[in-house]
Amino acid sequence: MSDYIHFRCPCCHGSQYRTSTFDVTESNPFGAKCIFCKSPMITFDHIAALASSGAGTLDFRK
Ligand SMILES: [Zn+2]
Repeated sequence: MSDYIHFRCPCCHGSQYRTSTFDVTESNPFGAKCIFCKSPMITFDHIAALASSGAGTLDFRK
């Protein structure tokens, strides 16, 4: 486990976020929210899981 976690917004692809205990949910255990669009942030672990499951076509490459 790494204690340095990269978050990425699935909505606007931003990487700026704030964390709040009030925003902690089952799918967002860190309570990280995008500062731009307020979407729950996802980690690269999520992205990898999504990609491997074929559930999403998220493209985070610049
Ligand atoms: Zn966003």
